[in-house]
Formats: sequence, C-alpha cells, structure tokens
Amino acid sequence: MEEKNFICTACPMGCKLIVRMEGDEVIKILGNRCRRGETYGRQEAIAPQRMVATTVRIPNGFYPLLPVYTKGTIPKSRIPEVLAKIRAIEVSAPVKAEDVIIPNIIGTGVDVIASRDMPEK
Ligand code: SF4
Repeated sequence: MEEKNFICTACPMGCKLIVRMEGDEVIKILGNRCRRGETYGRQEAIAPQRMVATTVRIPNGFYPLLPVYTKGTIPKSRIPEVLAKIRAIEVSAPVKAEDVIIPNIIGTGVDVIASRDMPEK
C-alpha cells in the first residue's frame, strides 16, 4: 500500500490529507473535514488538475504583456503544452477583461481568458 500526502486547497482550512492507494486505486482518504476534501484528495492522487495563469504578448498594448488565465482546471501533465501554445501567439489591443484569448486550448475544453482590460498604447 502506498500513501500520498496533500494539503487540501479546496478551502482556506488547508487540511492535511493522506490518500492510501493500492496501485492506481484509492482505498482510503484520511484527514479531510468534509466531502470536498475527499473529492480533492481523490482527484489529486489520480489525475491532478490545475488552473494556469500567465501572460501573452500584445505588441500594440499599453503594456507589452497581457495577463491571462485558464477559465477552468486542466490536467497538470498538460501544462507545458498549454504554456507553449500561449507563448506562441500574439494578440492585438484593445482587449477587455474576460475576453476569450484562446478557446478550447489544446482540446481541453477550457478557454484562456484575459485577466484585465488592455487598451492600445
Ligand atoms: S477537507 Fe474540507 S475543510 Fe478541509 S481544506 Fe478541504 S474543503 Fe476545507
């Protein structure tokens, strides 16, 4: 039996989770104070997901880089592909906060969104 340790980030309590695994199967989750922690621990042990926040080039923008983020979580293992895709593009100002910059990035079903307004320079 293998044990994995995580800090639950589903709320500010930060419970210390212990996930007991038998191969790829979750046998038991300890340390969670609620069901959200169980879901988090199971997901983290089997297929961890993350949101991604970064910047994209915007040459005619008031600032040269536009902050962007993924609207939902993506598999942690695919973050390098997501970052490479975002680094490969440029966008044109003006941009409004919440504008979709890249829809359905690398087929994850998750959009990349502008974090802020960016006027032209
Ligand atoms: S287990 Fe529940 S109470 Fe604990 S950090 Fe996670 S969401 Fe919060």
